[in-house]
Amino acid sequence: MHESDVLEPVSREPIISSEELAALRKKNIEYESRVNELREKNRQLQLAIVAAESERDQYRREARKYKAELSQMKAPPLVIGNVEQIIGPDKVIVRSTAGPQFLSHVSEEVKPEEVVVGAQCALHPQSYVLVEILPKKTDAQVSAMEIDVAPDVSYSDIGGLEHQKKLLREAIELPLLKPELFEKTGIEPPKGVLLYGPPGTGKTLLAKAAAHETQASFIRVVGSELVQKYIGEGARLVREIFALAREKAPAIIFIDEIDAIGSMRTADAYSAGDHEVGRTLMQLLAELDGFNARGNVKIIAATNRIDIMDQALLRPGRFDRIIEFPLPNLAERKNILQIHTGNMHLEKAVSLDTLAEETDGFNGAELMALTVEAGMTAIRHGRSTIKSKDIEEALKAVRNGRTKPEARELPPGMYL
Ligand code: ATP
Repeated sequence: MHESDVLEPVSREPIISSEELAALRKKNIEYESRVNELREKNRQLQLAIVAAESERDQYRREARKYKAELSQMKAPPLVIGNVEQIIGPDKVIVRSTAGPQFLSHVSEEVKPEEVVVGAQCALHPQSYVLVEILPKKTDAQVSAMEIDVAPDVSYSDIGGLEHQKKLLREAIELPLLKPELFEKTGIEPPKGVLLYGPPGTGKTLLAKAAAHETQASFIRVVGSELVQKYIGEGARLVREIFALAREKAPAIIFIDEIDAIGSMRTADAYSAGDHEVGRTLMQLLAELDGFNARGNVKIIAATNRIDIMDQALLRPGRFDRIIEFPLPNLAERKNILQIHTGNMHLEKAVSLDTLAEETDGFNGAELMALTVEAGMTAIRHGRSTIKSKDIEEALKAVRNGRTKPEARELPPGMYL
């Protein structure tokens, strides 16, 4: 046995000293806290990256928007027109609002079903390619017409006009309420009537009552509003009115002041403006001729000037009835006064018979104004009962209004 074979005894001394171990532990704690710190920093940096990326996306979006806006600003404006005729799947005749007609190609971006005659469209300013069909113009409807669903006026609100009521009932109400009667009899129901007579004689009122009675939409258009500045605009408005009426059927189209588009024109006073008015009238005649009398849209036109109306509108086949609205006679004046004083407290001494006698030549609107004026006079004197002297004062004011030229310019019922 060698000496080297003898195992040396294991040393009992620790590998590292306790001081060294304590120092290492301390360091470990320090590293751990440093790692935690760095982890936290990393988390914060990640969050900052996400925030910065979303900010970058936001700026990119804004930049895109401004670029698009800038290119829109640089682009020339599109030309507005109306489709007049469809020639082929991608070819149409368009009349621009400035006047000339173009044979235009239709862009592939435009849906073919939207390209219809009468549609308003936008053309490229250089190539005149139809690039867009514009949505139905609603502002034109707002500016040129007034829509009232079953207006709140009944026949009992109208004094006199018995004959006119009867004619209107036959021509407007019957075809709307009982179309089968006409079918059975084998006759075409009337399409429309023309009312004429001095202002304020109840033409609008009676037309509204007919709409009330038939629960129809009442579309009121004023003829002068149809006279437009641009070529083709008036005709387009007429088309839109009839389209709207068909949409809102049963409907009554009431065209007030039809003389503004339907007056006869003398050859020597034929201007570009007259041509445009003529075109609007032609469109109206086309609508009157073309639309189905059995449909539930009826037309009531009104004028104060039948003497200047174009024969084309007066000839048979256009309006089925031409109804006169004269100034009210004695009994009718009393009746109108009774209606308008129905809710007023009149002193016993006030006699509507005498008042009706004193108001010879007054129209319905003036009689109504007279009652309102009498009420106002009573209020001015701190009363709610109307006395004879209030009526006398009101009568004087209305009479003054009829003779003073400056007062004639004022709306009815307002006197200087
Ligand atoms: P314009 O030709 O000026 O349009 P118009 O004949 O259409 O006039 P309306 O608007 O119907 O006249 O009448 C104006 C007002 O006069 C009515 O709101 C109503 O108050 C009164 N009025 C006219 N006629 C009558 C009547 N017969 N009965 C009761 N009120 C009437």
